[in-house]
Amino acid sequence: MCYNRSTSPAEPSGPPVRAQPHAGWPTGARLAMAQLIYLDGELVERDQAKISVFDHGLLYGDGVFEGIRVYHGRVFRLDEHIKRLERSARAIMLDIPLSHEELVAATVETCRANGVGDGYIRLVVTRGVGDLGLDPRKCPKPSVFIIAANIQLYPAELYELGLSLITCSTRRNSPASLDPGIKSLNYLNNILAKIECIHADVPEGIMLTQAGLVSECTGDNIFVVRDGKVLTPPVAAGILDGITRAAVIELAADEGIPVVETLFPVTEVYVADECFLTGTAAELVPVVQVDGRTIGDGKPGAVTRRLLSRFRDLTRSEGTPVHE
Ligand code: PMP
Repeated sequence: MCYNRSTSPAEPSGPPVRAQPHAGWPTGARLAMAQLIYLDGELVERDQAKISVFDHGLLYGDGVFEGIRVYHGRVFRLDEHIKRLERSARAIMLDIPLSHEELVAATVETCRANGVGDGYIRLVVTRGVGDLGLDPRKCPKPSVFIIAANIQLYPAELYELGLSLITCSTRRNSPASLDPGIKSLNYLNNILAKIECIHADVPEGIMLTQAGLVSECTGDNIFVVRDGKVLTPPVAAGILDGITRAAVIELAADEGIPVVETLFPVTEVYVADECFLTGTAAELVPVVQVDGRTIGDGKPGAVTRRLLSRFRDLTRSEGTPVHE
């Protein structure tokens, strides 16, 4: 049996979809356009965008990546994404062959070349070609590639009705082994948990820390609301320092809603008034059931709805323009 299909958003494991040109493009250009991939300094046709079987990104998951959104012709929080990519690379002693500004320019250029004004960007840095051993010193030239594509979103009604989750038995990697704060190409920990979700027929699942407390989901950060306060596990618990998470924390502060970064057991989720997830692809999505238990009154709560609406406003009002 294999798992080639997904009902959940493209982040971080969904299929890259052919780019649909932005509505602003002339029809002729739109019809004639093929998908162009940025690969090591060049924009190449999708069929020509190839990486060696000796690349350690493929052989060992030795590399780092980002998933980024473009909304209304603007790349959302691009600077933050590139900074996180640089931190991930630094953590694994990988020298990205492009400067911060060059990464920004290459990302924007890839969107522009594909006419992607609303979509999803995958930016990947692999360790590069080496031999069959682990030694990263045998890989002198890291590869950088960027894919700008359409995004497969959760169906709109899930934002009205909310998601059901399970708690996965696969524990999140310990930060002492592989820090979940490093957004590396090694996502097997998350994929094993995702397989549990697929078997349970739910779109996402909660992963616990090695100590059995809530960390995050397979591809999203988690929040609960209790007595008007928003709780979310701290980055030090061993989670990805989500860009959407940070944006939502800022929005909550702006709304005067207290946010507490704290560890909590899954019981806290069961008894919460509200629960929601955040992620680049999911944005902010309400959760109404966990392990068969109804959260709150079983409907997306007022705080969740308010923050979702504020988040959508934010995506309309900021970002790095794709077209000058
Ligand atoms: N946790 C994990 C494990 C993820 O893969 C993601 C998606 N990148 C997130 C959280 C959410 O992070 P962000 O908001 O930056 O997409």
